[in-house]
Amino acid sequence: MKKNDQFEVTIEDMSSEGLGIGRRDGFVWFIKDTVVGDHVLAAATKVKKTYGFARLVRVLTVSPDRVEPPCPIARRCGGCQLQELSYPAQLRFKSEKVYNNLLRIGEVEEDVLRRAFEPIIGMEHPLRYRNKAQFPIARDRDGNIIAGFYAGRTHSVIRCEDCLLGVQENKRILEIILTWIKTYGIEPYHEESGRGIVRHVLIRKGFASGELMVCLVINQDKLPHQEELVRAFQEAGDIRLRSLNYNINKERSNVIMGRELVNVFGPGYIEDSIGSVRFRISPLSFYQVNPVQTAEMYGAALEFADLHGTENVWDLYCGIGTISLFMSQRARHVYGVEIIPEAIEDARQNAELNGISNAEFYVGAAEEVLPEWYAKHPEERIDVVCVDPPRKGCDERALDTIVSMAPERLVYVSCDSATLARDVKYLRAHGYELKRVRPVDNFPMTVHVETVALLTRTK
Ligand code: SAH
Repeated sequence: MKKNDQFEVTIEDMSSEGLGIGRRDGFVWFIKDTVVGDHVLAAATKVKKTYGFARLVRVLTVSPDRVEPPCPIARRCGGCQLQELSYPAQLRFKSEKVYNNLLRIGEVEEDVLRRAFEPIIGMEHPLRYRNKAQFPIARDRDGNIIAGFYAGRTHSVIRCEDCLLGVQENKRILEIILTWIKTYGIEPYHEESGRGIVRHVLIRKGFASGELMVCLVINQDKLPHQEELVRAFQEAGDIRLRSLNYNINKERSNVIMGRELVNVFGPGYIEDSIGSVRFRISPLSFYQVNPVQTAEMYGAALEFADLHGTENVWDLYCGIGTISLFMSQRARHVYGVEIIPEAIEDARQNAELNGISNAEFYVGAAEEVLPEWYAKHPEERIDVVCVDPPRKGCDERALDTIVSMAPERLVYVSCDSATLARDVKYLRAHGYELKRVRPVDNFPMTVHVETVALLTRTK
C-alpha cells in the first residue's frame, strides 16, 4: 500500500483523538471523519510499517451511530472531533476510554473496576455549553475581515461567527466588533508579517450571573477608537456588557494573551457562581469552561470527600480555588496550592468575597510545596487530599508525600484518564484502593472527558 491508494475498511474503534480505526491485512488505519460502525472507502495519506493514516473518500455503509454534524464546519475546524457521532455514542466512547485506561494502564482488576465504575454524567443539551470563546480576527483570501477558528493543525482562520459550543451572544458581539473594525479601518493582525492590530476577541459569560465580558487582544499599547467601540455597544442596545478590556500582546508567538491588561469600561471582571460559591473572573483567570458540568464534577468530588466539618483538606493544583472554596464550607480547614501566582491572588480574593476564612493558599509546585509543608507539620492530621492536575498527571514526589501523609480519602479529578490510570496504579501499590470512578462529560463533541475518582486508604 502506498500514498493515495484506495481501499475499503470497516471502522471498529476510535482513537483517543477521535480518529476512526479500521484493520485490514494486519494493518491498522486511522481515518479522520469516520465513526465506529461505518464501512468506508478511504485513501492512504501516510503509510508506516504496521499502521497508516487515510482520508475518508466516501461512506459506503453508514453506521447506526453516525449523525449529521450540527455545525457546518465541523470537519474543517479543529475544535470538535466527535460531531458526527451521536451523543449517546459519544458518552459510550468516553466511558469506555476511561474504563479501558484504568484496566490496561492502571492494571486495575476487572472485579475492582466494575464495582467502582459509575455511569458517565452527560449533558441534557450538549451544545452551547462553553462560557468562554476566543476568536482570531484575520483577513481571508479575498481580503474580507473575518472572525473564526483555526482549521485543525493550521494557522489559517476559517470564518465562523457562531460556534455551536459557545453562547448565542458571541455572534452579535462579533458583529458589533467587526463593524467597528471596518468602519475605522483597523487592521487585523497578520501572523506572518507580525503587522496589524486586532489579534483575538475573547468573550466570557457568567452562566449564573448572565454577565458578559469582552477582551480584545491587540498588537500595540493603545486600543484605537475605543470610545467609538463603547458607543457601538451602547447603540446596539441588545448586548449589555459588564466589562470591556484590552490585552496587549506584541509577541510573535501563538500564545493568545499577553500579560498586560487595560480596562476600557466596567470593573475589569465579571462575577459568576457555582453552587453557592461566587467567583470573580478576569480575562486572564483560569475558569472551568462548562459551568453546568463543573457543578456535577465538583458535586462528585464533594460527595467522594465525605466531609463533616471536622476535616483538614489539601487541594493540589487548585487554580483559582474553586474546589478548595467548595470544600471549605464543609471542612475544618482547606489548604490549596497552585503554580500560577495570579490564580492564587484570585483564590484569596474569592475566599474573601465569600467570607471564607478557613482556606489558605500557597503559590508553588505541588511537588515542592507539599513535601516542605509536611516536613514542617508532621503532626497535623490530613483527612482528605484532592488533586486536579493538568494532563500530565501528578508528579511522583507529590504522590509520595500524599502517601506519607496518609489521608483516609484521596479524591482525584482528572482531565486525562491515561495519566489518572498511571497514578492509580502507583497509589494502589502504596496502600490505597480505587473505590469509585465517575466520568463527567465536560466537553461534548470533543474527545475530552473528565473523571472523578475516589481512593481510600487500606492500611
Ligand atoms: N482545580 C482547578 C484548576 C485545575 S487545572 C479548577 O477546577 O478550576 C490544573 C491547575 O494546575 C492549573 O491551574 C495549573 O496552573 C496548575 N498546575 C500545573 N502544574 C502544577 C504544579 N506542578 N503544581 C501546582 N499547580 C500546578
